[in-house]
Amino acid sequence: IRNVNKIYQSAGRELSVLNQINFSIDRASTVAITGPSGSGKTTLLGLCAGLDRATNGTVELNGIALEKLNEDERAAVRNQYVGFIFQNFQLLPTLTALENVMVPLELRGAKNIKARALDLLDKVGLADRSHHYPVQLSGGEQQRVSLARAFSNQPAILFADEPTGNLDAETSEKVIKLLFDLNKDAGTTLVIVTHDLELAARTSRTIKIKGGVIVSDENPGYAE
Ligand code: ATP
Repeated sequence: IRNVNKIYQSAGRELSVLNQINFSIDRASTVAITGPSGSGKTTLLGLCAGLDRATNGTVELNGIALEKLNEDERAAVRNQYVGFIFQNFQLLPTLTALENVMVPLELRGAKNIKARALDLLDKVGLADRSHHYPVQLSGGEQQRVSLARAFSNQPAILFADEPTGNLDAETSEKVIKLLFDLNKDAGTTLVIVTHDLELAARTSRTIKIKGGVIVSDENPGYAE
């Protein structure tokens, strides 16, 4: 990410949310992004993942400059490399838990889609909820479906926005283990927005933002 700014237009006014953000994340590393509510963490994650565009600056994912791509091209890059766990889950309401997890696999043209999706639901402890619709699931269960969906296409990089925000201590620990196992076993790069300082302490690097600027970056682990 180089010299990134994000300005939202809202009710005819400009709101500057990110200001001159610069960093580079190593492949297979684990990074926490922390900071107060409203500091721009979700916005930053969305720009990194190609869900939204920066107002200025450059965002590169695996060497691909996202700002040069149109919507469809960015979606193709996301399908190929990115998993995203949304703060508010964003499950498709008309699909069951199983069908939600199957979507990225279908988009990729994967094989044995149903068996793989069931296996993923089993890993997050929801095998017995596979035919439930999102409204029939608790917040924590929806969060776990959203985790299974994000893991499903074995992304090179996984962005997680408050992945443990809605979970009790025990489920939270399970989810954290799943995330870090993915990093250890498959080399998945993890970028996690979190208010949970214990979770942040388990990553190899913590980037703190406040008021849209980076105020500290511990263990950046790369040379500029
Ligand atoms: P939290 O920890 O509460 O989730 P955050 O650090 O993730 O907060 P963001 O969601 O990135 O913060 O929001 C940063 C600022 O940008 C907030 O002031 C928010 O109101 C504003 N904002 C976010 N999205 C939009 C949008 N689409 N249009 C206008 N303003 C927005």
